Amino acid sequence: MTTQEQHDPVGWEYSPAPEQIKVHIEPKNKLFINGAFVSPKSRSWFSTINPSNEQKLADIACAGKADVNNAVLAAKKALPKWSKMCGSVRAKYLYRIARRIQERARELAILETMDGGKPIKESRDVDIPLAAQHFFYYAGWADKLEYAFPGRSISPVGVCAQIIPWNFPLLMAAWKLAPALACGNTCILKPAETTSLTALRLAEIIQEVGLPEGVVNIVTGAGDTGKILAEHKTVNKVAFTGSTEVGKLLMRSTAGSGKKLTLELGGKSANIIFADAAIDQAVEGIISGIYFNQGHVCCAGSRLFVEESIVSEVIQKLKHRLQSLRVGDPLDKNTDLGAINSKAQLKTVQQYIRTGVDEGAEFHEVHQDRLPSKGYWCNPCFFTEVQPSHTIAREEIFGPVLSVMTFRTPQEALTRANNSPYGLAAGIWTDKGSKIFEMAKQIDAGVVWCNTYNKFDAASPFGGFKESGFGREGGMQGLRPYIRLQNTSGRMK
Ligand code: NAD
Ligand code: MN
Repeated sequence: MTTQEQHDPVGWEYSPAPEQIKVHIEPKNKLFINGAFVSPKSRSWFSTINPSNEQKLADIACAGKADVNNAVLAAKKALPKWSKMCGSVRAKYLYRIARRIQERARELAILETMDGGKPIKESRDVDIPLAAQHFFYYAGWADKLEYAFPGRSISPVGVCAQIIPWNFPLLMAAWKLAPALACGNTCILKPAETTSLTALRLAEIIQEVGLPEGVVNIVTGAGDTGKILAEHKTVNKVAFTGSTEVGKLLMRSTAGSGKKLTLELGGKSANIIFADAAIDQAVEGIISGIYFNQGHVCCAGSRLFVEESIVSEVIQKLKHRLQSLRVGDPLDKNTDLGAINSKAQLKTVQQYIRTGVDEGAEFHEVHQDRLPSKGYWCNPCFFTEVQPSHTIAREEIFGPVLSVMTFRTPQEALTRANNSPYGLAAGIWTDKGSKIFEMAKQIDAGVVWCNTYNKFDAASPFGGFKESGFGREGGMQGLRPYIRLQNTSGRMK
């Protein structure tokens, strides 16, 4: 074996191909309140780093009580005019935001990758285009709301507190803001503390398009800022995407307050491969199911169920395919898996891997010897000999770690897939349409992908059952959380 083949089991060699555009990052990033960038009254700042090299990128303002209060009051003040504005005029602002996201796409993709660690090919081809698509899509609804809810009188919910995670930062901001604005609400968005930069660029875009001041406010900070925001008494609605743990806290804190709440939480989704499936395509589906975005995907297909008769073939093909995945510099367009988002998340993932080994599952990993010495890295890996009672088969890992299990009959696949406190997504791979429909009907999951995985579209609703949360984002259904409906008796719902 030559040295090159030892380093690269498939014998491929790429030259580095990093993005060449330099993106300017302000050293200090202020809060966006009432149409202006303002220093935090809290006088507190925190730093955000690039998880692929641990270098500091910038300081970010940490919003305290007074700052959150100002943002909420700005949203409250902007509400009457914005909510009464003709829908077609609101739509024009949303179209403008969508177009500016497209125009600034390169810059946004690079920033997303630097701040969060995801590969540039994903931020460039998935996150940013989908974020623009959501604004385009909901712009289309803004003047047609009465057709979405025929025969009902509709009004916006009011001031919306929107709290988002770090795995799809700009996209999650778009999922939250676009439908809320289309329906005439005003918003306070809180990005996750490790990935605030693209939300703040969105604030710039919002200024550029001349959105009336106070309609969107962006407050940065960690969990404390989120808590203050969600508990503010002037807030009419809380929309949260993140962990089930924080989701439960928010349910408690909003109970009895009259606030509307939607939760998009974690998952432990089943990806089910039948013996009659196209195996090579299914293996690609495993890859996009769990290794996409380093497994930082709430709907990741983290539990793989393979029909027993084909399990050795699937595992052999999976191992082969894993050898050609490249882990490394997220800004390199050849990179398949970038950095884990934070040191804390890397620790969590590593702890789950140790637990998997300790509980007796068999660990498989393809070593990549090119990993940089700095940064938070995890090789794509999987476990076989996994029992349903194992921690790695039950709990969300949120990393590139797959648990492989087997089944003999469709009924067994169904029972095992549904044996989870979560119910976000599922994948089914089979040649038989009838099997797809039978399975899809009975799986407790908000999204079921058939002969594909992790496909998203603004027109298609997304959301969970059970501990994965409630409420839908995307599609016509995504309007409902941001609307109050009045029925003939005049009662609001
Ligand atoms: P997290 O719940 O800790 O944080 C999410 C957001 O909530 C962040 O902005 C954080 O600052 C804020 N937050 C933290 N504590 C808070 C509190 N007490 N009150 C209010 N806000 C608070 O989650 P995370 O670890 O950052 O993100 C990963 C989790 O998010 C995973 O469990 C994943 O499944 C889930 N997720 C779900 C979806 C979905 O659509 N269902 C999408 C992405 C991520
Ligand atoms: Mn960061």
